[in-house]
Amino acid sequence: MPGPVYKFLYHKLAAEPRRWHPMLSVYYLTYACDFRCPYCSDGAQNPYYKLRSGILPADRVIALLRNVRACCDHLVITGGEPLKHPEFARIVDGLGEVRFRGLVLTTNGHDLEPHLEPVVRTFSQLVFSVDTLDRGKSDQWHGVGPGSSDRIFATIDRADRVRPSSCEIVISAVVTPDNIADLHEVYAWARDRGFAFAACPQLVGVKAHAELVGNPAYKALFDMLIAEKRAARRVFGTVPYLERMRDLSRFRCRPLTMLVVSPIGDVFYPCLERGSFAGNLLDTPDLHALLEAGRREHGSLPTCDVQCHSACALGFATVLDKPWAVAQEAWLSLRAT
Ligand code: SF4
Ligand code: SF4
Repeated sequence: MPGPVYKFLYHKLAAEPRRWHPMLSVYYLTYACDFRCPYCSDGAQNPYYKLRSGILPADRVIALLRNVRACCDHLVITGGEPLKHPEFARIVDGLGEVRFRGLVLTTNGHDLEPHLEPVVRTFSQLVFSVDTLDRGKSDQWHGVGPGSSDRIFATIDRADRVRPSSCEIVISAVVTPDNIADLHEVYAWARDRGFAFAACPQLVGVKAHAELVGNPAYKALFDMLIAEKRAARRVFGTVPYLERMRDLSRFRCRPLTMLVVSPIGDVFYPCLERGSFAGNLLDTPDLHALLEAGRREHGSLPTCDVQCHSACALGFATVLDKPWAVAQEAWLSLRAT
């Protein structure tokens, strides 16, 4: 597998890549989730918990992830809620052998407590969704009854106590028209505990929620995060990335910087948001062959409108457009408090 510098230059220079060299892979372990977050949506405005898909047993998941590892150093395991996979514990056990360089778990945190020790030993980043500190409001958003927020905050506290230094906690927030003010408090709470903080706008399908576009409170939130970033706080993303998130401006998306895989191993082409597949990575471990199959079936890479302001799509596009920001990021990371 080519190294990160080759991959970076390949994506920077190739107008229409004929090889698939992902810099990050994302695996949807299961779409199942008990929560009912009001913003939950894939690229076609379907909440993940309503998507119908099979899942793989643990040994097939590990076989699939070996194929992912053959072409990518970094993996995010997400969902749905990954903890809803019935063999989650066995999968975590098996992940150690696959040896990803960076391994991220995203979770709502509700069912994590019994798995905490192996999880913090295995993953390099543990990403918790927190959209407000208001327990009543977040319980209502979760939709699983009173007390869900208390339980999640207790788990985050415990994760912080038991985690080794190799496991970073990230607090991830979705910015909606209904929680912008709350997120100033969430950020301060995360910062005071030494957690990293990431914020992305609510997407309705592929577009930022209409009430966020040109919204002064939304802009002020990102202005605050940019100022904090410049002060070397642990805010996710480079400064230009945060500026683009704030402005919701157009960017040139490079979907092949990512490899996104469905619960049963189907590879999205060109991206999750389009909802089309190139083939199955268990059946066809050759990702370049899958790229050709995707291109034949679904055409060349699209040129998209002002959309998909997600961490991955915008993050890689910005790094490729403004590589100097990587050096700035490295400098800020060294000084991070
Ligand atoms: S926790 Fe995630 S998958 Fe579950 S409803 Fe909320 S946004 Fe959707
Ligand atoms: S902007 Fe990128 S992620 Fe969104 S639909 Fe277009 S190619 Fe896919």
